[in-house]
Amino acid sequence: MPYPHGAPVSDLFAIRRTPNSGRAVFASQDIPADTLIAKMDNLAITVLLRQYRKEVCAHCFSYDRGNGLKMRDSYIGFAFCSADCQQKWRDDVGDVGVAAWTAAEKLTKNRSKEDDEMQDVDDPRPTSKEITQAWEKVANRAALIRLARQGSDNKQHRKSIHAAISAPISPDVLAFCVSGILLRYSKPEVWPSLLALATDPKPYHNADDLLAFTRSYLQLLAILPEPLLEFTTPEILFVLSTRDSHNSFGIRSLEDEGSEFFGYGCWPAASYFNHSCGPNLNKQRVGRVWEFTTARDIQKGEELCITYLSGEERQLSRGRRMERLRRTWGFECGCERCEI
Ligand SMILES: [Zn+2]
Ligand SMILES: [Zn+2]
Repeated sequence: MPYPHGAPVSDLFAIRRTPNSGRAVFASQDIPADTLIAKMDNLAITVLLRQYRKEVCAHCFSYDRGNGLKMRDSYIGFAFCSADCQQKWRDDVGDVGVAAWTAAEKLTKNRSKEDDEMQDVDDPRPTSKEITQAWEKVANRAALIRLARQGSDNKQHRKSIHAAISAPISPDVLAFCVSGILLRYSKPEVWPSLLALATDPKPYHNADDLLAFTRSYLQLLAILPEPLLEFTTPEILFVLSTRDSHNSFGIRSLEDEGSEFFGYGCWPAASYFNHSCGPNLNKQRVGRVWEFTTARDIQKGEELCITYLSGEERQLSRGRRMERLRRTWGFECGCERCEI
């Protein structure tokens, strides 16, 4: 197997294909307990939920128990714990990124919550056919918006922009799309590591979720800075969702067993560890970096696993735990703890 683009490289472990669980990470030597085996800082896509934007630093995700952060940037709609974090965030997204987030914030600000968070988790996932149809349905409107953005004075073209902007807004879906489009634009060298990740061909949670994406697509075509328009396409947005679906890590508070869910991010190199309900690796977030440490002595050849479950989920019964893994991550857990 060719080594996947963006996969972690180490003397301590190697990535191999397995018969049942795709790619997996195996120890290449005996590793004692409490060994830091990897630090992953390659955050590619990130969503900080809108409700946490004033309390959680957009760069390092620090959080002061719900107190508002002092450095608030109302144009981009984010807050920072320090001038240093603000500057690093700006350096990371660049001028076009600042313009994109400013446009997204202008669209979202002062709108009611609308359809956000109304999704019923029990609704079925859209099929591949429904996904194709949903994107085809907005193709004509997208074409009109592009003409308007190219300077057309045609009334119908101008109206298409207004119609897109007036539609309900899903701020967190919009933020996910902005983050992904910016990645494609400003870090093309990282894109192949996203493509190399396991893909979920049916990534939308339900019909509302899919609708939120097609609407966000039209809205972004209407508002994003011109250099991003060629990357604002159904193909790129679909790739982002298919890779995000099973590869993102939750960004949670570092206290209280991670009870606060701030958002999520995709660190491609960190996505190669499989899940176990009794993992032999601990993962710990330090700012924007994930650190992986051995939870016990590990022998050469053992698979290295983390848990995908958050604090409270780890206490679930076997049946409910397996159901959660099936629903959220799309696999039947066959780990030792579930097999017993
Ligand atoms: Zn910070
Ligand atoms: Zn399990």
